[in-house]
This record gives sequence, C-alpha cells and structure tokens, in this order.
Amino acid sequence: MDVPVYQDTVIKINLDHIAYNIKQIKQLAGPAVDIAAVVKANGYGHGAIALAPVLMTHGAAMLAVANLKEAIELKEQFPQYPVLIMGLTPDRFLPYVLEYSIIQTIDSYHQADELNKLAKAAGKSVQVHIKYDTGFHRLGFSDTEQSFTEILSICRMSHLAVAGIYSHLALTDDQSNQVQYQKLLSIISKLKQNGIAIQYQHIADSIAFVDYRQYHLNLVRTGAILYGLKGFHKGSLDLRQALTFHTRISHITAVSQGEGVSYDYLWKAPCSTRVATLPFGYADGYPRSLRDKGWVSIHGKKAPVIGVICMDQCMVDLTGIPEAKIGDPVTIYGDGSCPAPDIDTVSRLAGTNKNEIVARLTSRPAKIYIQSKPS
Ligand SMILES: *Cc1c(COP(=O)(O)O)cnc(C)c1O
Repeated sequence: MDVPVYQDTVIKINLDHIAYNIKQIKQLAGPAVDIAAVVKANGYGHGAIALAPVLMTHGAAMLAVANLKEAIELKEQFPQYPVLIMGLTPDRFLPYVLEYSIIQTIDSYHQADELNKLAKAAGKSVQVHIKYDTGFHRLGFSDTEQSFTEILSICRMSHLAVAGIYSHLALTDDQSNQVQYQKLLSIISKLKQNGIAIQYQHIADSIAFVDYRQYHLNLVRTGAILYGLKGFHKGSLDLRQALTFHTRISHITAVSQGEGVSYDYLWKAPCSTRVATLPFGYADGYPRSLRDKGWVSIHGKKAPVIGVICMDQCMVDLTGIPEAKIGDPVTIYGDGSCPAPDIDTVSRLAGTNKNEIVARLTSRPAKIYIQSKPS
C-alpha cells in the first residue's frame, strides 16, 4: 500500500492538527453557525482529498473551493459532501455543475438563467449561492436596484434552489467592514420583505471569523485557520500549524574565502567554509526571493540560504555546523516546535503572506500524512 516517495524532499501534514483546528473553529462558531471549510488550491498546498474527510468528520458542514476543476476532484472522491464553488464557472462548463451536484456561486442573471434551463431540461434542481459585491469589487452583483430585481427573479426560478447569499470583506478597517456588512444585511432584509428567506448568509473568512464575531451570520468560510495559519490580530484562537517541509543534505563542498556560489556568484564566501547542497528549489514552491534571507535548520542550528535559489536545488552555509554530513535531515519549514523557521517567519522573510507560502508548494515534493487515529 505504501508507495515509496523516491526523494528526500517531503511535506509532512499532521492530520491530527487539522482535526484539532476544525474542532476549535466549530467551538468558537457555536451551534448556530456552520463552517464552510475552504480547501481551494489543493487545500492550501496540504492536499484537499486527504483533508476533506477529517474536516467533514470534525465539524465542517461543507467544503468550499475556487473553481469547477477543484470541485469535481472532490466530488469524484466524496459525492456525498456538499461542495461550494466560490468563483464563477464559464457558461460552457455549467452542465458539469449539474452533473456533479455542485453548489455554484452566481453573480449574474444570465448565468442563473442558463443554469435554470439546464436543470429544467435534466429534471433536476441545482443549489446556488448569490454573490453580492459590497465593495471588494472582485465578484458579485453590484449594489444597485437592478441587481435586487434580478436576484428576486433568480430566487423565483423553478429549478434553482438559492441556498445562500454572501459577500467578502476587504478588511481595510472597522468602518469599511461595517459599511460592507450593512450592505449585505440590507439586501437580505429587502429580499425578506418580498417573502424570500435564504438559508445561508455569510461574509466572514478566517480573519473576520476570529476578529469580528459580530459578522458570523450563520456560515463562515474559513481557510487559513484550518491549517493553523493565524492572520488575525484582535481575537484569539488556539491553533496548530499542520504542515512542515523537510529534506536531507545531498552534497557538501568546501569553498575558500572569496569564492562564489550559484548563478552569477551573487554570494561569495567571506571566509573558508563548507557549503551544503539541498535538493529543493523554486520548482518545489520555495520562494526564489529568499536568496540570502532564508534559512533552514540542521542539527537544530541555523544554516543560511546562500546565493541564487535554483529550480531544483539551493545551497546553505554550514559555518558553525561542523557535524553536518551528507544525508543529515534538514527542516525547511518548521511548526514552531523545533528551531526552524515556521510558516509565519518564512512569509515575513519572503515579503508575502502565510497563505502564499503554503499554496505555492508544488506537487513535486511528496506529501506524507501523519495521523494517530483515523477519523
Ligand atoms: C479563499 C477565500 C476564503 C478563505 O480565506 P482565508 O483567509 O484563508 O480564511 C473565504 N472566502 C472566499 C470568497 C475566498 O476566496
């Protein structure tokens, strides 16, 4: 059953930590608020298929992804799990939404009409969530009287079940969050006055969920915090980072003072030292921008990444780690429990956010799942 991983560079994902995090989230949400577990981008690089049962067993009411391809991958494995596509699906692929019983986000009368016609022809009903643009200006019906009229007729379409209405916060400041929230409430209440009650209303992502509990409504779309990535700053929630990244030293070279390392010799040895080659690079998802900024942990000590990061390999300085030898384990991303940079530290060094650091991991490093008790 166990497939060999064929390589030293591996991502380890602790499914117990994922279970712990979703339970913490469910507890904070309380019984009146459902969780849409956001597993787009292959579960933020963690592997959506492996995570889905853990999330659904421990508190998620549905899974949410960005696009149809991601939704179909999940539905093929788990036809019984509700899956919401938060992005739009091109018209020509709408039949698949129907075929796989996926919940589709709608932000135009045109697409609602298309989907309704397809559903009618198939003798089925299809669930949709209405996206409302309260200011982010990415997706959604614009905040106008015409949109209201269109949404009203969508709610009355014979073969659509409008199961949700939602928006997304720009999280600029408290005041603009409130403006956005009020716009969503106002469309919901106008629909109610016209006899339309929609099951799910939602606006909160991970940060809004923890920092602004007044915006929970009755569904929250949490991504980052499932993986133990904390972007919030006002509230608090105990979480465990699930992913760590590892390799082993593949080669060691002695370099003399003044000698260069890697393309363009952008790093030159300030004194004679040993340089270790590690078998991972930007094609594994390690940010190339970490040249001369990143570091890894070898024997619990800090080994700085030196010179240009190559596609498949990079080099670290072994000054101060005389015991290091070929085959020794290296922690690239730790989880705070060992002296290695955690994902928060790596994201700061790379000048990006934590979500990007995990989402950019590619399929090349093998994924190893750790689980003490199957869910
Ligand atoms: C990605 C996404 C989320 C989840 O965001 P996190 O910050 O990771 O919690 C929620 N809603 C929408 C619409 C998204 O695209």
